[in-house]
Amino acid sequence: MAWHREPKARQAHIFMGHWDRERTSYLIKLNRGALRKAIGVLAGHCKLRRHLHLLGLKKDKRCRKCEQEEETPLHILCFCPMETGKRNQILGSHFLDPKNIVSISLRAILHFFREGGGFCRRDDANYLRKV
Ligand SMILES: [Zn+2]
Repeated sequence: MAWHREPKARQAHIFMGHWDRERTSYLIKLNRGALRKAIGVLAGHCKLRRHLHLLGLKKDKRCRKCEQEEETPLHILCFCPMETGKRNQILGSHFLDPKNIVSISLRAILHFFREGGGFCRRDDANYLRKV
């Protein structure tokens, strides 16, 4: 089955949309560690609470900043009310429509996560360092 027909991977579909030359070019230039981190954010398989909960490593899957929704890259990038300042500073908007994610550069998205979007603990910030 082709990836774009995969009914699961909801977040990956939102973050990556269709094949994009610029995004692909950016990703293949990353070193292995940075690429792993970038794909983790794009696919939702990173050290945010929802994924850790699915792995059985965390009981609470709510966002550690707002405690209103599940802590996912999509929530952090688009909706978390505690990230409006950082989101506006880096991405130019207080809130984002998920439909617009594919038009934002991966560099900007990963910069947002690296600069603290959603990551409170030092370990989490280190997780995305040098992406
Ligand atoms: Zn939140």
